[in-house]
Amino acid sequence: MASFRNSIQGMQKGLGVTLKTMLKPAVTVHYPHEKEEVTARARGVIALQEENCTVCMLCARSCPDWCIYIEGHKEKRPARREGGRERTVSVLDRFDIDYALCMYCGICVEVCPFDALHWSPEYEYSEFSIASLLHDMEKLGEWEATVPEIEPLELGAEVKKAKK
Ligand code: SF4
Ligand code: SF4
Repeated sequence: MASFRNSIQGMQKGLGVTLKTMLKPAVTVHYPHEKEEVTARARGVIALQEENCTVCMLCARSCPDWCIYIEGHKEKRPARREGGRERTVSVLDRFDIDYALCMYCGICVEVCPFDALHWSPEYEYSEFSIASLLHDMEKLGEWEATVPEIEPLELGAEVKKAKK
């Protein structure tokens, strides 16, 4: 008898929760038919600004997942000034990020000393094949178009002065 009473009470409690929830507005959306607006600082995908990259490898060495693959070579360039020495520059041949391994920690973006990596809030790049989650230099460059403008500092935020 006690167990019957318990089950009735359980059902009443459950129905109560159902009725209460039915009257509240939904907190989920019917993706992909409806889409929520993502904040500009969301970590969706990493974009590469190729011309800023000096092939220093810092991002690849700092990545905890070892999912950044970089290859480059050295090239000789003429001196900047007359009578100066010939320069040696690093040229990027390959820059891939494997999003099947990436954990979106953002370390690579933070450590890059040349501002070559940026977060984009874009998140719609799922694939049927896991191998297609390897984004090459061209693909990473295309993401640059989706990187939002840097937001102005919040009111009252301090601007750090450059050391002399
Ligand atoms: S976000 Fe983190 S895991 Fe992903 S590529 Fe950058 S350093 Fe590696
Ligand atoms: S840290 Fe920046 S400059 Fe160095 S290899 Fe990575 S993206 Fe290129």
